[in-house]
Amino acid sequence: MTHKIAVLPGDGIGIEITEQAQRVLSALGLALEMESAPVGGAAYDALGHPLPPSTLALAKASDAVLFGAVGDWKYDSLERALRPEQAILGLRKALGLFANLRPAILYPQLANASSLKPEIVAGLDILIVRELTGDIYFGQPRGVRTVEEGAFKGERQGFDTMHYAESEVGRIAHVAFQAASKRKKRLCSVDKANVLETSQFWRDIMIEVAKEYPEVELSHMYIDNAAMQLVRAPKAFDVVVTGNLFGDILSDEAAMLTGSIGMLPSASLNASNQGLYEPSHGSAPDIAGKNMANPLATILSAAMLLRYSLNEAAQADRVEAAVQAVLEQGLRTADIYEEGTVKVSTSEMGDAVLKALH
Ligand code: NAD
Repeated sequence: MTHKIAVLPGDGIGIEITEQAQRVLSALGLALEMESAPVGGAAYDALGHPLPPSTLALAKASDAVLFGAVGDWKYDSLERALRPEQAILGLRKALGLFANLRPAILYPQLANASSLKPEIVAGLDILIVRELTGDIYFGQPRGVRTVEEGAFKGERQGFDTMHYAESEVGRIAHVAFQAASKRKKRLCSVDKANVLETSQFWRDIMIEVAKEYPEVELSHMYIDNAAMQLVRAPKAFDVVVTGNLFGDILSDEAAMLTGSIGMLPSASLNASNQGLYEPSHGSAPDIAGKNMANPLATILSAAMLLRYSLNEAAQADRVEAAVQAVLEQGLRTADIYEEGTVKVSTSEMGDAVLKALH
């Protein structure tokens, strides 16, 4: 069976880094059909919209999307609906991508890059699963109103609505339990159940779904404590599942534990495991076109694509092992370079990963 992959390089370094990830995917000997289309600013320039219908149709017809990055300051004056970043929101919505998976892995070879002491963080390997389409970010009603009674009567008031439906919590719970069952079988659900009704409901559903995964140990933690524990003893976590708001903050915090933005992959999945895979970083206009961007986050995103959308776990392991191997050889792009290692370009890093695959 041939798997179809939509490759959307986007803007800035997106072009250079997806090229390297594509080379890696092509070298695996799998039956893959890869087709590229413009997205973001590049698509706006070529076709007048950051997510043209032809690009969206390609994404929908594919098993997975390999996405580079979008954005450039030159588009900042465009109306919001035409800005490059809208392409990501449009793809999430059109493909129903409700689960965001962000691993935070700190390879022992890069332990010095973290702001935490190496003994606390070296060898870190955790996965943050964030619900992506619900919560206070999308709840209605929202807006600014005039308070009608009480202490603030007559004042203007900003407000949002937090809610989660049973099926919304249930489906993200299943993604998280399934991910945990493929790892160390520990899942920590993060909420604020001591204060928020929505969180207590979230917790109740997590406990219900846990019955279907007896092999996974479920624990609960309040968001404030989780934020502390992530910097105090991050290696105590395996998989963390949380809502959109808390996940937004925790996934960035976890990412920064590793200190290397050029190393962090991510996946966004829908109910049929169709997914969008992209590095956690942006289009880095400051270094675009200079062949110096780190392609490893995108190559590791391609490994996630193999694991989650194509069900090719052995090939995913193979790509991840190749990345480990190049780090072990001391090869570093400029962003992760330190004295005593060998500085390489984007394409040289791609060459080294290809070589390590064989
Ligand atoms: P950024 O992530 O693009 O860059 C931040 C810093 O990290 C820069 O100094 C950059 O050179 C460096 N960097 C990022 N990725 C790197 C890599 N692979 N290798 C080496 N260095 C790397 O964030 P920013 O500068 O705040 O945003 C730039 C543009 O990207 C903006 O237009 C923003 O809207 C957009 N953006 C897009 C996405 C996305 O496509 N998902 C995410 C974040 C930002």
